[in-house]
Amino acid sequence: MSDCLFCKIVEKKIPAKLVYEDEHTLAFDDINPQAPVHTLVIPKRHVASIQDLGESDHTLLARVLLTCTRVAREKGLAAPGFRLVANTGRDGGQTVFHLHFHVMGGRHMGWPPG
Ligand code: AMP
Ligand code: ZN
Repeated sequence: MSDCLFCKIVEKKIPAKLVYEDEHTLAFDDINPQAPVHTLVIPKRHVASIQDLGESDHTLLARVLLTCTRVAREKGLAAPGFRLVANTGRDGGQTVFHLHFHVMGGRHMGWPPG
């Protein structure tokens, strides 16, 4: 999608601090981190939100989740744990409509979130 911020990061038209990349997924640090570790994991293919995944997207979703756990492991969060968040839609607080998981950690993550 030409006007999608995260598609532009995939296409390297906008710079980002890349953490991990493979054929189907990309991980980069959040520009406005809310925790010592705050990395975003996205599918390279444009999908607006988790609600827009269909039956044929099982493998893509699994790849994205596996990239989340890889990033968490490589950022040292496997033992202390981490928070995985997919804000979805208006009330979910989603501001960028290209599916992304927030991998957050390095401090205790409170519950409930705001
Ligand atoms: P959400 O509000 O769940 O849609 O999350 C969007 C996230 O994208 C926010 O945490 C923003 O800080 C982050 N963000 C926005 N623009 C960029 C960018 N150019 N590079 C990295 N992260 C970004
Ligand atoms: Zn996109």
